[in-house]
Amino acid sequence: MHKETDTMDKTHLTKFYKKTPTERIEALVAAGALTSTDLTGTDSLHLTDELADHMIENYLATYDLPLGSALNFLVDEKDYIVPMAIEEPSVIAAASAGAKVIALAGGFKTTISDRIMIGQVALKDVPDLPLAKSHLLQHKKAILKKANAAHPSIVARGGGATNLLIRIIEADDEAATPEFLVVHLHVSTLEAMGANIINTMLEGITAYLEELTGGKALMSILSNYATECLATAVCQIPVDLLKRNDYTGEEVRDRLIEASQFAYVDPYRAVTNNKGIMNGIDAVVLASGNDWRAISAGAHAYASRSGNYRSLSTWKKADNGDLIGQLTLPLPVGSVGGSISIHPAAQFSKRLLGYQTAKELEAVIVSVGLAQNFSALKALVTDGIQKGHMGLQARSLAISAGASGTAIEKVAEQLKLAKNMNLATAKALLQDILALEE
Ligand code: NDP
Repeated sequence: MHKETDTMDKTHLTKFYKKTPTERIEALVAAGALTSTDLTGTDSLHLTDELADHMIENYLATYDLPLGSALNFLVDEKDYIVPMAIEEPSVIAAASAGAKVIALAGGFKTTISDRIMIGQVALKDVPDLPLAKSHLLQHKKAILKKANAAHPSIVARGGGATNLLIRIIEADDEAATPEFLVVHLHVSTLEAMGANIINTMLEGITAYLEELTGGKALMSILSNYATECLATAVCQIPVDLLKRNDYTGEEVRDRLIEASQFAYVDPYRAVTNNKGIMNGIDAVVLASGNDWRAISAGAHAYASRSGNYRSLSTWKKADNGDLIGQLTLPLPVGSVGGSISIHPAAQFSKRLLGYQTAKELEAVIVSVGLAQNFSALKALVTDGIQKGHMGLQARSLAISAGASGTAIEKVAEQLKLAKNMNLATAKALLQDILALEE
């Protein structure tokens, strides 16, 4: 189902956070971000028992997560409302706030590489490694042909196996590991993430690789280190958009750059920096029905590509004094396959985001990661993260204390002013509020 209009009328989205969930859907339809059929409510987005029972083994029940929408994303000159599935408060607010500043600065510009996925066959006990390597290279064409014959439908669609790389991993006495001959199959999986396509192709060539090398295959499997499927987002923000409370725009810029340098050199900080980036990325990946474990594993490996674990993002000063941010990571998401076409919430996310291709989805996801990082760093180097974070955390504490209905907001408001914002205070405040209402 296509949206009724391709242009978004954002005037309907003002004070979006103050609306009820039903009003938000109505506003999104009025803005042209959803179709009028979405007005029938979100009950139909839940997985039925029947569907869920087919998706996994030993199914018992579904486990719900809130699905929200981040606003203000201007990516490659197109407006997006971004679906995010996440349990952590403040992530969607931070993404929207970061994206708003970046939109005022012209939005995100992205570069998406060709979508080539990598499959591995690990061979052991190869009698002569250099000879095996040369045999494999001599028969490269035949190997690619066999791989493509194992999954002809992806070839018919215009994709398929494109290249072969051979890696020799030497034995390591200290680690007590033997030598391996590893064959990398590069495959264009088009709109799919491609795990099943690649695994089928690898199984189609494994016996032939054993024959050519004289070795024994240990395993054949996709690699989640998708270094041939990279997405980059860049933003450039003038200092007048960076001013915050007592800090000038120049000070915020310089402190943010220092924070980026700190995350580059210190793995303890880099992990937390990247966790913040993945707060945004995983939430969109999950909402889109893609495999967030695959994306997370690949991202953290990419952060270690220099041999040290480093920040995935960089923030630098432009010649004209602007702040330039950049984020690059592997993003092998699909627009088809897996649970994307099965899960009703993933289908809803696709309608809301309005993406047409996996590359477009990558562009939005990498931009969300950069917006998230910008907001977190800006807060950290100025007011600190707790001020904004705990404001939202207050509501979770109120609910944990047993508050419901209007009492949630009342407890949260008083908690924000309390000396100790913790569960005990929330419980005491709730008791007082309930006593007053009796
Ligand atoms: P699927 O096998 O579910 O879907 C891919 C299929 O979609 C293709 O084979 C193709 O089949 C069809 N298709 C339709 N249109 C297109 C198009 N335009 N471009 C490409 N394919 C199209 O998914 P994937 O192979 O992508 O695998 C993803 C799933 O694998 C995820 O659920 C993931 O969790 C899981 N997985 C992940 C692993 C990992 O990350 N290590 C390992 C194993 C599984 P056809 O041409 O025949 O119609």
